[in-house]
Amino acid sequence: AEFVQRHLDAIGEGHLPWKTVWTSVYRAGAMTLDSYRHGRVVFAGNAAHAMPIFGVRGLNSGFDDADNLAWKLAFVAKGLSDAALLDSYSQERIAAFHVNAENAMRSTEFMSPPSRGFDLLREAALSLSEKHRGIAQLINPRQTQAVCYVDSPLSSGEGDAL
Ligand SMILES: Cc1cc2nc3c(=O)[nH]c(=O)nc-3n(C[C@H](O)[C@H](O)[C@H](O)COP(=O)(O)OP(=O)(O)OC[C@H]3O[C@@H](n4cnc5c(N)ncnc54)[C@H](O)[C@@H]3O)c2cc1C
Repeated sequence: AEFVQRHLDAIGEGHLPWKTVWTSVYRAGAMTLDSYRHGRVVFAGNAAHAMPIFGVRGLNSGFDDADNLAWKLAFVAKGLSDAALLDSYSQERIAAFHVNAENAMRSTEFMSPPSRGFDLLREAALSLSEKHRGIAQLINPRQTQAVCYVDSPLSSGEGDAL
């Protein structure tokens, strides 16, 4: 409670009334299902995968799941493609999970250094970044980027029959 009040004071909101409703220990972790398709059931968003919150990739990757899945569902529903097309959704988005999780963990290590080494790197990068653009690159950008589905059956040619 003391920490929260101090933080509210620091951001100029300390005068507002508040009370603790619920607390728990947050652990930054990344996890995924082994497959996002189980027959006629498909998983997307946090039901399929979880990211550390510092990486700002949780909701973003949920949107990407929906974007990937929507046209495939439409194709299958309209009879334009075999239901096996939905397997590529799972393969592509699990590959994306690994890219996103790696970046999210790097952001997490930067924002919440797990050891003195990460702490030193952050201090050095932040103090030098204004004058040295090269060093600024060490600050892991929190923006998401498009993920290339290099190993997807749709982009390798193996998915031609779908
Ligand atoms: C503090 C915090 C900060 C975050 N910041 C970011 C950010 O900056 N950028 C970003 O991209 N992501 C961020 N995230 C992650 C993001 O919020 C989640 O990844 C996203 O909300 C997941 O969306 P979802 O629809 O998959 O799942 P949810 O948002 O969890 O939605 C699932 C819904 O299903 C409901 N539900 C559960 N069980 C049942 C049931 N049995 N019957 C009916 N309904 C049920 C739940 O009540 C909930 O409304 C943050 C998360 C947290 C906690």
